[in-house]
Amino acid sequence: METIKFVCDVMLKNLTRWLRMFNVNALYPPSESDEDVVSFAVQHSAVVLTKDKELCKRRAVIGKCYIIKSENLDDMLKEVFEKFLLPAPKTFTPKLCPLCNGELYRIGIDEIESNKNKIPPKVIKNSERFWRCGSCGQVFWEGTHWNEINNRLERLKKKIKN
Ligand SMILES: [Zn+2]
Repeated sequence: METIKFVCDVMLKNLTRWLRMFNVNALYPPSESDEDVVSFAVQHSAVVLTKDKELCKRRAVIGKCYIIKSENLDDMLKEVFEKFLLPAPKTFTPKLCPLCNGELYRIGIDEIESNKNKIPPKVIKNSERFWRCGSCGQVFWEGTHWNEINNRLERLKKKIKN
C-alpha cells in the first residue's frame, strides 16, 4: 500500500510540522494560492488538508480534499489520524524533517563537528543523538523540546480510537 501524502494549505503550517514529526508525509505547497495548492496536490497525488470549503470544491481535488474542523492543534492531529486511520507512532522517533518533509538520517557526533556553526556547543556536549535531513541538511538533536513532543504524542494516542 502506498503511504498517504498530504498537502496542507497556508492556514495549517503548524499542523504540517507536527504531522511530519509523527511520521506522516505532509507537504507544504510552494505558493499560497488555491490554484497552486490544488495543482501541487495533484502533481504529488496528495490529499489536501484545509480549512477552506471553497478550495475543496475545486474539481481537481474532489474526493481528495478534507476540511479540518478542529481549531486547536491537538484536536487537529486527532482528527487527521482518525479520519485517515493513521497509526500513531509508539514513541517519538524522528523520520521526517519538520522543515521540509525530507528523510532524516542518524548521524554520529563526529559528523557534527564539521557542522558546529549550526549547533550551539552546549547542545553538542549534552545531546546523545543527532539527525540530519537528507534534503535540506538541517541537523536535529535530542533536546529540551523532546518532552513537549512526547507529551503531545501521548495525548494523541489517548485520544484516537483507531
Ligand atoms: Zn529538511
